[in-house]
Amino acid sequence: MSDNDTIFGKIIRGELPADIVYEDEYCIAFRDINPVAPMHVLVIPREPIARLAEAGEEHRELLGHLMLAAARVAEQEGHGDAFRVVVNSGARAGQTVFHLHLHVIAGRTLSWPPG
Ligand code: AMP
Repeated sequence: MSDNDTIFGKIIRGELPADIVYEDEYCIAFRDINPVAPMHVLVIPREPIARLAEAGEEHRELLGHLMLAAARVAEQEGHGDAFRVVVNSGARAGQTVFHLHLHVIAGRTLSWPPG
């Protein structure tokens, strides 16, 4: 267990159930428990980076991998033509779980700017 263990750490270790839609050596993707759109999947690195602001140069490839995984999941779910990827970094930006995650949202018209 790492210093910044979260519910997502428990999901990675299989201690909490999740509806996993994709996984590989570096990341897993599962359905958000409180979806804000018909498709709402979270892509998270297995490495417990607390938030995007704490990622460093050493995470350059991993961050790219997460983006590609997000696009792959959207495609796999039938939403490759229109989806949104959101990262909340910091509590005031809406982050509630301090294990980096990409929200992948699709299936309805998405307004801009987000709230
Ligand atoms: P954020 O507010 O950006 O930190 O996003 C955290 C997301 O995690 C929220 O959209 C929650 O609905 C979601 N969430 C919290 N607990 C779980 C869980 N056990 N399984 C799936 N999603 C979760």
